[in-house]
Amino acid sequence: MIVMKFGGTSVESADAIRRVAEIVQARQDRHPLVVVSAMGKTTNRLLAAADKAAAGNLEDAHRDIEELEAFHRREIGAILPADKHGKLDDVLETHFVDLEASLGEVATTGEVTPQLWDEIGSYGERLSSLLVAMAFNALGVPSVHLDARHALVTDSRHTQALPLYGRTYARFREKAVPLLREAVVVMGGFIGATADGVTTTLGRGGSDFSASIAGAGIGAEEIQIWTDVDGMLTCDPRILPGGHLLRTISFNEAAELAYFGAKVLHPSTLLPAVEKDIPVRILNSRHPEVEGTRVVAEMVHSTNPVKSISCKRGITVVNIRSLRMLMAHGFLRRIFEVFDRYRTPVDMVATTEVSVSLTIDQTQMLPEIEAELSRIAEVVVTPDQALICLVGEAIRETPGISARIFGAVRDVNVRMISQGASLLNFSLVVNDADLVRTIKALHDEFFSELDPAVFEV
Ligand code: ADP
Ligand code: ASP
Ligand code: MG
Repeated sequence: MIVMKFGGTSVESADAIRRVAEIVQARQDRHPLVVVSAMGKTTNRLLAAADKAAAGNLEDAHRDIEELEAFHRREIGAILPADKHGKLDDVLETHFVDLEASLGEVATTGEVTPQLWDEIGSYGERLSSLLVAMAFNALGVPSVHLDARHALVTDSRHTQALPLYGRTYARFREKAVPLLREAVVVMGGFIGATADGVTTTLGRGGSDFSASIAGAGIGAEEIQIWTDVDGMLTCDPRILPGGHLLRTISFNEAAELAYFGAKVLHPSTLLPAVEKDIPVRILNSRHPEVEGTRVVAEMVHSTNPVKSISCKRGITVVNIRSLRMLMAHGFLRRIFEVFDRYRTPVDMVATTEVSVSLTIDQTQMLPEIEAELSRIAEVVVTPDQALICLVGEAIRETPGISARIFGAVRDVNVRMISQGASLLNFSLVVNDADLVRTIKALHDEFFSELDPAVFEV
């Protein structure tokens, strides 16, 4: 058995779904469990409609939803034979009636509660999984639908739910494995439900995580993440085109890259796979012949110490200077307690005798945090920063890396630096306006020569 996860762009249209059906059909003998994201940008559009409803623009929200319904009808209708169009209408009708009711609830209260955010945001995958299963059957790939909410049991942390692994794995064994013996199973990513059956989501981009959980649950021999790039590249193609494809990367390196902004994998994706030692492969649904990137448990040796460069934009640096001459005992604890209380994760930290600099990417609670910290320290907030992260397990043991990094960025004003915390990354914070040229300089420095054992040359 294998898991094949297809992201939003891989199922964004009738043509894209036809390509996916061919890819799945060619691997039918491996008994695939297919995990699909919402079609195209559906999740963004659903959440935008929820915001409009909350702001009192129910008519606008209604129009968005009608467009979404028409989009699903058009793309799936183009695949299904005429005698299945009635069934398609039924599926759309029941889902969109319920969705409208939830939007009505948002409009009445004027608020998208986390529970309603999950409820509304879940429709993309609820629909895509049902419709892709219907499309597969029409395209000659016998398939059954599995409602992710009947298999993936989560806690009730709405918008960021975590799986209850024991129960979830038991459900996958009980519900998915018998179905997989008979047909391709199609399940929506991103969504789950609490033990009481209330719909939850795993956080944006969470379908990768669903795929990994499902793979661990059924004991898959491989988890395939099919997306719109050939695999893990040496840099984010949306920031700097022309990166090189990695043939292999370790779980640790891939997880670090995901955490520090490489959207190609959701940061939690690898946990279940690592635990069950299941290899993960990243593949391109537009170029299925490309071998993609294999993510493996063991360290991958290479003459290139840096494997890839990721980045996070929209970073804020918070500089906190003690009001006393020296940092008092307990100062750091008090600072971190404040961030903790406001559930704001801190990414990078640097300290001196009297001050602490740290970076955050969630700023909703920043005014409250700043007010509290100001009681014990002088606080300076600098927005519009970017975090650049060079990742490679050999970074820690290669002499001269820092000199090469500093040489490459000699013309850039670097705000913060960190190395050592995870042993496999070297991070820099720069002004967002300098991001692209800094990445380019680092990329030129570390990838002008490539080890063919690790990189596609
Ligand atoms: P999906 O909808 O298939 O889940 P995502 O948009 O979530 O796809 O992830 C794929 C995107 O990740 C790519 O289109 C690319 O822009 C981005 N990305 C960021 N960093 C990298 C990287 N190092 N290698 C490959 N892709 C990356
Ligand atoms: N559809 C969800 C999102 O857009 C999950 C995913 O695509 O992974 O965040
Ligand atoms: Mg994704």
